This record gives sequence, structure tokens and C-alpha cells, in this order.
Amino acid sequence: MPAMPTTARSIRRVLAALAVLPALAAAHASAGDRVVLAIGAHAGDAEVTTGALLARHKRLGDRVAILHLTLGEGGNPKLSPAAYGEQKKREALVAAKVLGADVFFGPWKDGELRDTEEAARFVADVIRQVRPTHVVTHWKTSLHPDHEAAFRIVNAALLLASLEGFESAHPRYRGVRGVYYADNWEDAEGFTPYVYVDVTEDLAAWKAAVTSYEFIRGGISSFPYLDYYEALARVRGAEAGKGFAVALEVDPFAKKRVFDALP
Ligand SMILES: [Zn+2]
Repeated sequence: MPAMPTTARSIRRVLAALAVLPALAAAHASAGDRVVLAIGAHAGDAEVTTGALLARHKRLGDRVAILHLTLGEGGNPKLSPAAYGEQKKREALVAAKVLGADVFFGPWKDGELRDTEEAARFVADVIRQVRPTHVVTHWKTSLHPDHEAAFRIVNAALLLASLEGFESAHPRYRGVRGVYYADNWEDAEGFTPYVYVDVTEDLAAWKAAVTSYEFIRGGISSFPYLDYYEALARVRGAEAGKGFAVALEVDPFAKKRVFDALP
């Protein structure tokens, strides 16, 4: 498939102009009327960075969903990608169940995610199906090309999902109130926390969910995922004056705030 004809930056400008990617709403959404969709490049990305936020919203009565674009099946030196992919899918289903999240899987292979029109169409149809009020995905710069591709695919998909002219299995959808980027150790360049959410009461649910994955429990990767993300939640909590928190970045276009006079 050809690459998307427009850059992610120009797509985000269009989204902002169409108010598909609105400035952060001044009014707070009320509990139970949000739908939070987390989109990760590899199974485990969404839960480890955003799982505590999903657990919190589930507890508040909101609907939560996860889309894994790939299974992240390439990272186990002891297993073939096929065998590890089966394991990752089982682990993802358990993690979603613990979080009370609907779960969707993309068809792509680990390391082969590209920001093609085909990928944007797939994600746009999932967005139309889930009808999220809030979307959380990877920040734009990353050590991992799959993560950067996910950022561009999701932004292209948000526009496509809103367009009458894009035909898919579900009707067009323009109800996204906020697009947020997750605090991921691989996506740290240029990431500045902008929004903090208190997840002090949700850390136990997060830990129960993410330890469904062997790579997070330890023994596959040398990176100490569980220790790192628990410590990160404490650091973000300290910055926010809370116990534990999830920090999110937003697009510069979404930081624009307009008033009749200074607030
Ligand atoms: Zn990843």
C-alpha cells in the first residue's frame, strides 16, 4: 500500500480545524458517559502505560477498549514469533478481562507496522465501532518505528472516521473529545506531561492486569517493566501532588485555549 499522502502534522491541523481534535474541553465529562480507547503498537504497550487510567474509568462507570495493532510477537528469544504471538494474544485477552476492556487486534506483524492507508482505514473502522470520547496512543517520537507508525496511523484514522466520504462497516463518527499520548519509556523524546490523572486507587488493578504478560513479570526482556512503570506512576503522582498518577501529553494544537477574558 502507498504511504499516506499527507504528513501527520498536516492531518492534525485539519483535525484541529474540523474540531475533530478539539482543544481540551473546559467542562468535565461526567462519569459513565466516556468511552476511552487505548491504541498500542504491540500487545502490552497500552496496558502498561495506560492500564491504570483504563481501570479508573471502568471503575467510574465508563466503557474502555484496547486496540493492539500487532501482538509484539517478535520479542522472545526462546519462542518462535508464531508461538509467542499465540501466548501474547492469550495474555492480552486476560489483561483486557481484568481491566473490563473490550479488545481488538490489528492484523500486522511485529516490526512491520507502517502508516499506510490500509492501516488508517482499519483503525478508522475500529474508532467508528467503539465510538470513543477519548483516545490514548503513542507519542510521535519513539525508539521503535512501530510506535511512530501507530501515532501517524491513529491521527490519520481519526480524520477518516469523521468523514462522510470514507465508507466502512460502520457510520461516520465525530465524537472524540480528546486525543492523548501515553508516557512510554520508548517514546520519551519531546514528551512533556501535560495532563495528570490520579490513579492511586487503581494501581492494584493495573498490576493485576499487566502481570498477565510474561514479559512484564520478567524473564523475557532485561527491561524491568513492572518496576519502571510503578515507579513512573509514583513520580508522576509526586509531580501532581497525588499518590500515583498517569501523565499524558497532548498535541500542541490541542493546547490552544480561547477565553473572552483571562480565566
Ligand atoms: Zn511497543
